Amino acid sequence: MNQYFSTKKCRWQFLLEAFGFFQEAQNMGCGYCDNCIKKKK
Ligand SMILES: [Zn+2]
Repeated sequence: MNQYFSTKKCRWQFLLEAFGFFQEAQNMGCGYCDNCIKKKK
């Protein structure tokens, strides 16, 4: 689970990939998790 904290991807994108939803994860960007917020700034 350390990858979850070290990843720079969207948190949801990471979770989707972790559960095998690769297609859904490709265009994922929730805009609300800390990593998405960092990208916006
Ligand atoms: Zn996100």
